[in-house]
Amino acid sequence: MPEVTMENGDGDVPEIVVERTLALIKPDAVHRAEEIEEIVLESGFTILQKRRIHLTPEQTSDFYAEHYGKMFFPSLVAYMSSGPIIAMVLARENAIGYWRELAGPTNSFKARETHPDSLRALYGTDDQRNAVHGSDGVTSAEREIRFMFPDSIVEPIPAGMVARDYLARAVNPTLLKGLTELCKQKPEDPCMWLADWLLSNNPNKPQVADRYAVQEPM
Ligand code: UDP
Ligand code: MG
Repeated sequence: MPEVTMENGDGDVPEIVVERTLALIKPDAVHRAEEIEEIVLESGFTILQKRRIHLTPEQTSDFYAEHYGKMFFPSLVAYMSSGPIIAMVLARENAIGYWRELAGPTNSFKARETHPDSLRALYGTDDQRNAVHGSDGVTSAEREIRFMFPDSIVEPIPAGMVARDYLARAVNPTLLKGLTELCKQKPEDPCMWLADWLLSNNPNKPQVADRYAVQEPM
């Protein structure tokens, strides 16, 4: 049988769409945050941003606005504002779906029955205190990332041709020079050497022309 490959039509590199999602470690599981983060990394996610925050009830109501009016809304708000949470922007291929799969069913009791390896089965308590949150789609992921990280840029990460064009234009010429020099010098710590080299050879670094030099008073 012929091998099935994912062709993107412009060469032999398969198109990988890196997605971002918002993950929360909820108040009841914050004391297990280190273990949860280890599972996050082992599952192939990159943690792009992370912060610990204690939301007010008003901020929590805003965050969960879609559930306003539901029976569980008031207790959800009380629970989510009862202590600090950890917010993380996670990235990987199909991050949104994969993180929700790793989180497991909303109800921790059900999670223990049907998805015993999921985070909610392992770290959740009941149908409300369920250890983690995950965005449920591209639009909510964008909104929720902006909510928790107002300064972040949520433009899509370039992939395929666009990524190759960008890298070819913006970094490859400089990297090639740096790597050539690195091979000549063979320093003891090549990564640190390259980091220093890039800092002093960055073509985009601000240049101060001589004629603008400030004359020190005599
Ligand atoms: N929740 C609750 N009771 C319910 C359903 C949900 O307390 O009957 C809480 C639970 O903490 C859940 C959150 O409200 O994680 C948001 O609910 P949603 O239906 O969006 O579930 P999720 O997307 O978190 O799986
Ligand atoms: Mg939800």
